[in-house]
Amino acid sequence: MDSQKIGREILAHAGIGIWKMELIDGCAPRMYADSGMLRLLGISEEMKPEAVYQWWYERISPDHYESVSESVSKMAQGLVAEVSYPWQHPEWGTIFIRCGGTCDENYPAGICIGGWHQDVTDLMQFEKDSLTGMYTKKYFLSRAQEILDQNPDQDYKILVSDIENFKIINEKYGAEKGNELLQYLAQRGGKIIPWGIISGRFYADKFVMLQHAIPMSRKEGLELEARILEDSPIPNIVWKHGVYYTRFDRSISVSAMVDRANLALDSIKKVYGAKCAIYDERIHKSLLVSQQIIENAEQALREEQFQVYLQPKHDLRRNMTGGAEALVRWIHPTLGFISPGDFIPMFEQNGFIRELDHYVLEHVCQVMKGWQEKQMQVVPISVNLSRRDFDYPDLVEYITETVDSYGIEHSLIHLELTETAFSDNPERISQMIKELHTRGFVIELDDFGTGYSSLITLSNLTFDVLKLDMSIIQDDKPGKEHDVLKFCTYLVKMMKLQSVAEGVETREQLERLRELECDYIQGYYFAKPMEIVKFEEYLANEK
Ligand code: C2E
Ligand code: CA
Ligand code: CA
Repeated sequence: MDSQKIGREILAHAGIGIWKMELIDGCAPRMYADSGMLRLLGISEEMKPEAVYQWWYERISPDHYESVSESVSKMAQGLVAEVSYPWQHPEWGTIFIRCGGTCDENYPAGICIGGWHQDVTDLMQFEKDSLTGMYTKKYFLSRAQEILDQNPDQDYKILVSDIENFKIINEKYGAEKGNELLQYLAQRGGKIIPWGIISGRFYADKFVMLQHAIPMSRKEGLELEARILEDSPIPNIVWKHGVYYTRFDRSISVSAMVDRANLALDSIKKVYGAKCAIYDERIHKSLLVSQQIIENAEQALREEQFQVYLQPKHDLRRNMTGGAEALVRWIHPTLGFISPGDFIPMFEQNGFIRELDHYVLEHVCQVMKGWQEKQMQVVPISVNLSRRDFDYPDLVEYITETVDSYGIEHSLIHLELTETAFSDNPERISQMIKELHTRGFVIELDDFGTGYSSLITLSNLTFDVLKLDMSIIQDDKPGKEHDVLKFCTYLVKMMKLQSVAEGVETREQLERLRELECDYIQGYYFAKPMEIVKFEEYLANEK
């Protein structure tokens, strides 16, 4: 067999056919098929090219006519395009075809496009997202990587889009309507967005598209979006986009490019009116700083750059300090003071939070042991647990062993966690908390009143102390119609819990909380978080 024939055999075996299409003004379109393609079309080589075209076109599933025509016209413009559609085979029934190609720019008469045709019926279930019919994340990444590798001289861009507050939309209109919106956007966007090559849905409302790197002005972008959203099943949605141009750095993987487009998108998440952001030097620089933070974390822990500060909790009834919360600080040798709000979310993402929380717990135990040995006053200390700490099934054992190894009574260790800790796997996590509670640790529910608090979850959880978020305290104004603060303190009493009010800064707030019989006060009014030696002095001075 000659090598061409072997090549054809291999393609036919893989379910791939090669085709050529001639579009000449005034003539019927013609399609030429190789043997693999004839097999896929279920016809013999006697059929005339005009009839082959008709045969192919008429068997495309009618709801895909538009996307197929769209791709063919992209190919005719000299772009590489790809499209998938169900096709009615005369013997095999419906098969799924993936077809791609581009035009032969040197063709003497009319337009000639050529490409491949592949039977992907077997792969369909792995490639497509069942809700929208778009590619799955895994398939999109591998396909986009192939396209980039095969066309090293072409510039592309990656567009990442998501809908602002999609969670809230789902809650407001119901999940079914939310799904309808996603389907609508997938269909409409796929048809209307020019220069698109392939697109996928990564999760929820996160759409990703590989496009040719044709720049678009803000005005063009807004017009295009208005056309896409014209008949949206949910009105007034805010859709935001992040873009990565491959020419910024072609050496990284498609997956890293998508991450960068996402970073661009994140940079405008909370910015009113901002619709689209392009990954640029500025965003790149902040990425490098975050990477530096992440890469330096282990070393920083070894070099004791992390310091544990304590913030007093004032016991209102006894009018003295009744405990403290351990809050971590990072004193970086070059970047200086970094606040936990900046690094904790990064550590939660990369998993380092577990190391850090272990360090804080161990340090707190050491300090308390020191107090016991020096026969100083020992007050309970609470440590924060991140939702990620619960990913490890040995958390309960770890905490118990650590605290026991320093000979600290369990009731002196309070564990603060937020309701979001329960959202991933409520049953398993509730079980772990229950176990910690049974072993005598005091459980505090942190940040109560921020966003997602729900009375149902509250009634299902085991805990001893409710920490009222500072937003509730600071929003509390006399004569407000809904007295949230009063309601919360009432709730605490009903549930026979104890309350800690966070972020108390003024005398008025303090008096109001006293009136509502709140148990503990934590806030700048009494003291800011301080170094441990300062806290020891603070306690001693109280006497
Ligand atoms: P959080 O647990 O809600 O901690 C209370 C935050 O409020 C602290 O911020 C504290 O400094 C601040 N604060 C206290 N009183 C006042 C006040 O009167 N006014 C105002 N404006 N702020 C007040 P910080 O130390 O920056 O910590 C931020 C968050 O970082 C903490 O929120 C906690 O979620 C997290 N975090 C801190 N340390 C750790 C840790 O060791 N492990 C984990 N997992 N998270 C930690
Ligand atoms: Ca806390
Ligand atoms: Ca809090």
